[in-house]
Amino acid sequence: MVTQYSIAVLPGDGIGTEVIAEAERVLEAVGDRFGIDFAMRRFPIGAAGVAAAGDPFPEETRAAVARADAVLLGAVGDPALDHAPRHLRPESGLLALRAQLGVFANLRPVTVLPALVDRSPLKADRLEGVDVLIVRELTGGLYYGEPRGREGEGASAVNTLRYSAAEIERVARVAFESARQRRRHVTSVDKANVLEVSQLWRETVTRVGQDYSDVRLDHLYVDTAAMRLVAGPQAFDVLLTENMFGDILSDEAAVLVGSLGLLPSASLGEGPGLFEPIHGSAPDIAGRDLANPIGAIATVALLLRHGLGLPEPAAAVEHAISLALEQGARTRDIAEAGAPALGTRAMGARIAGLIAEAQRSRAPVAR
Ligand code: NAD
Repeated sequence: MVTQYSIAVLPGDGIGTEVIAEAERVLEAVGDRFGIDFAMRRFPIGAAGVAAAGDPFPEETRAAVARADAVLLGAVGDPALDHAPRHLRPESGLLALRAQLGVFANLRPVTVLPALVDRSPLKADRLEGVDVLIVRELTGGLYYGEPRGREGEGASAVNTLRYSAAEIERVARVAFESARQRRRHVTSVDKANVLEVSQLWRETVTRVGQDYSDVRLDHLYVDTAAMRLVAGPQAFDVLLTENMFGDILSDEAAVLVGSLGLLPSASLGEGPGLFEPIHGSAPDIAGRDLANPIGAIATVALLLRHGLGLPEPAAAVEHAISLALEQGARTRDIAEAGAPALGTRAMGARIAGLIAEAQRSRAPVAR
């Protein structure tokens, strides 16, 4: 019997559509190899949602993600809507999607692949063995807090940073549980020397940590963490932090691996998980077959592992990515200056081909 999973695919805008096409191609290859039927249906979000239905998170998309086993997202964002009212901005669609799914924990693994050590601006000896899992709180904090808005005819503005102990506790538990599968070390990042919210964060994480006596816990202020992440990234195992600090630190961590286009993420809550590469819609390169699809393809691996509980297919995708890179496949963003580079589609095809090839090499020889 073929197992079937329903995947809501939200390509979004700009390079989101290009990298998601390659993620779909890889999911098809995984389905063929492992005998799994991925029923993938596409729905609009972001500027594509505004164009299709006048809403960055259209009703049809809302209903589809609620029914799916997992949600695969590209990226949202369109400079043409930069000055649109907030309810029509692509990013509002993304925030509403995360809120509807209740995905409070965002997991961003940052692993420096040996084949790409020379692509980072950091020295190679700082990068060897870097393997950090950033666990970012995703549905609270400054990006959601009310009141918010412009005041006094726009001359001043307010945003609200608020967390409850319960919100901190549930994401902290994800970090400690993840650390148990890794090197058993959690570094919690806050600004407890200045912010009351951070003091509550630190107290709560410390209390939760008492349930995980096998996991080492330490705390860093966000400014120190930002320095250490580039000065000594090998020291981190699981880095736990709130929404805005996590947004910033995870982009900083992208520098370690050489390109934003390489990094995946998984957002988990009670219902279907949301899986997306960490990059945006990259309008500067959109529509030119230049985007690196590896972040989106690595996202497929996280979807398989964390969203559907399929560790073996997940490992097959990660292995195919590493193999393609070891064999020298490079998109423009990770190629040496002047060296030949693959386009988005060719890189996707190469990785999907390696997944299929592994299947053929295992198949019994026909007589
Ligand atoms: P971005 O991530 O889109 O691009 C930053 C830089 O990285 C650009 O130079 C881009 O060309 C490059 N880049 C990004 N992904 C790449 C890939 N896969 N391959 C090769 N190069 C890649 O960030 P930005 O320019 O600050 O934002 C552009 C738009 O995306 C904005 O509208 C922003 O709001 C939106 N955005 C959306 C998300 C999301 O959907 N989760 C995240 C970040 C930004």
